[in-house]
Amino acid sequence: MRICIGSDHRGVNVKTHLSGFLRDRGFVVDDMGTYNGNGSVDYPDFAVKVAGAVSSGKADYGILICGTGIGMSIVANKFIGIRAALVHDSETARYAKEHNNANILVIGGNLIDEKSAEEIVNVWLYSKFEGGRHQKRIEKILELEESIKTRYNVVDIIGKEDPFLASLIDRELKRQQETLVLIASENLASKAVLAAQGSVFTNKYAEGYPKKRYYGGCEVCDEIESIAIERAKMLFGADHANVQPISGSAANLAAYFSIINPGDTILAMKLAHGGHLTHGAPVSVTGKIFNVISYGVRKEDGLIDYDEVEMLARKHKPRLIVAGASSYSRIIDFKRFKEIADAVGAYFMVDMAHIAGLVAAGVHPSPIPYADIVTSTTHKTLRGPRGGFILCKEEFKEKIDKAVFPGLQGGPLMHTIVAKAVAFKEAMSEEFKSYQRQVVRNAQSMVDVFHKEGFKVVSGGTDNHMFLLDLSSLNITGKDVETLLESINIVVNKNAIPFDQKPPTQTSGIRIGTPFMTSRGMKEEQAREVAAIISDAIKNHINKDYLSSLRERIVALCCRFPVYGETFKC
Ligand code: PLP
Repeated sequence: MRICIGSDHRGVNVKTHLSGFLRDRGFVVDDMGTYNGNGSVDYPDFAVKVAGAVSSGKADYGILICGTGIGMSIVANKFIGIRAALVHDSETARYAKEHNNANILVIGGNLIDEKSAEEIVNVWLYSKFEGGRHQKRIEKILELEESIKTRYNVVDIIGKEDPFLASLIDRELKRQQETLVLIASENLASKAVLAAQGSVFTNKYAEGYPKKRYYGGCEVCDEIESIAIERAKMLFGADHANVQPISGSAANLAAYFSIINPGDTILAMKLAHGGHLTHGAPVSVTGKIFNVISYGVRKEDGLIDYDEVEMLARKHKPRLIVAGASSYSRIIDFKRFKEIADAVGAYFMVDMAHIAGLVAAGVHPSPIPYADIVTSTTHKTLRGPRGGFILCKEEFKEKIDKAVFPGLQGGPLMHTIVAKAVAFKEAMSEEFKSYQRQVVRNAQSMVDVFHKEGFKVVSGGTDNHMFLLDLSSLNITGKDVETLLESINIVVNKNAIPFDQKPPTQTSGIRIGTPFMTSRGMKEEQAREVAAIISDAIKNHINKDYLSSLRERIVALCCRFPVYGETFKC
């Protein structure tokens, strides 16, 4: 066992005595100074050495001595992983180990004689941590340290340059802590993903692809991007992956330009029925340069009308058929789409941005066996950084790569590509699979409550991470409900429902998604509670006192399931 020991001038005698005492008993002792008691020294200089050695794992335990022990313990406890205990006798020494698992012992050199110091050290070293209820408390300390690490990275570092901006980041963290995000396209990326995005790859240009760059110094970028590509291929079972698209929209544009030309006909889901802007909405560039034919869902059941898709395909002979949606809560039948595409000689592309995490976990059927090209974002159910990627069959590999660079983008966002690689690895874990199953169970639990409370849900339920609440029979718009819920700390977005009579700025629906709340650790019980609170809020939207009691319940729930394990004052 390696023990490092340090003191200021007031603790030198006790330190020297203890060093000998420990060496005689077979311990490896690293004396980190100070080495004589004649001149005054500053205790932080020695506390830093000892605490740093224990914190970094270079030593198993540390002992610090100054006049009272107070200064030394204050400094040592600033280090991550340090539990420094200031003790006065063998009883406090025993508790320091049994209850607090202290890894640094601090003694007041002016208060304790050498014989007592021996006894204290002996008791502390040979006592055993009891675990049990004390383990839970140690875990809370570790959790706090984790949250401090996040704050340190983000807020403290920026704060030195730009305190106001840092305060805004802190405010956003607080907002995410204290509100319940039910936006279906948002999620809580891991700290590893956040850290990767803040890495030194921010500094690097890497136009081109691994081993074919237009800049020097790309050897590490090559390794990173190759890893991200291989992980994406493995995760989804694809022939080829391009991890450079800066967003889902960019991925879609690149996919289009790789195989079709301006003026060509595409058949995709209409925005008003759940498709995305980039599926040919008139306001999007895709709607301006392609001849767009749209399919939708059936009025009676809210499900994709595959017969209509087939009819439109046969009639308009599109060059490309697109499946995938931003607000569709049911399993998409990719096989049927592929059969339709084959029947009319069209390419088949799937935009799985919303369901990528579910697909990776095997919770939604994969489009890979059927689609020529699959596009996605990385930041929705997949829980990675904000960005996009494209998967394709071998025959489209070169066309896709050319369409992304130099077709559409310049230098890739290497820091985001690192974060994508991290996220792809995380998505291969068993934990991620059970997370995705929980996402779906939470969405279904909420739907059950809404049905019991008399609400209508588009398509009658959900198979994935989201659903649309149909408010058309109530005297309230989606916009009103979005505002109402924000007042009780729930964040959702207003959303048109299929065949909506209201304009997109008002809407008759709200979209509710469970990825974020599930990342906080919430399960069916909380999902049901949240749905009941939303239902209560809508039914009692004019009762201000009641709404404020609902808000308190949401804040209490957020406290119980903190973002990034942070403990915060409610
Ligand atoms: N595709 C679908 C289905 C989406 O829902 C979205 C975003 O919401 C996108 C593409 C676009 O992604 P981004 O916002 O990264 O451009």
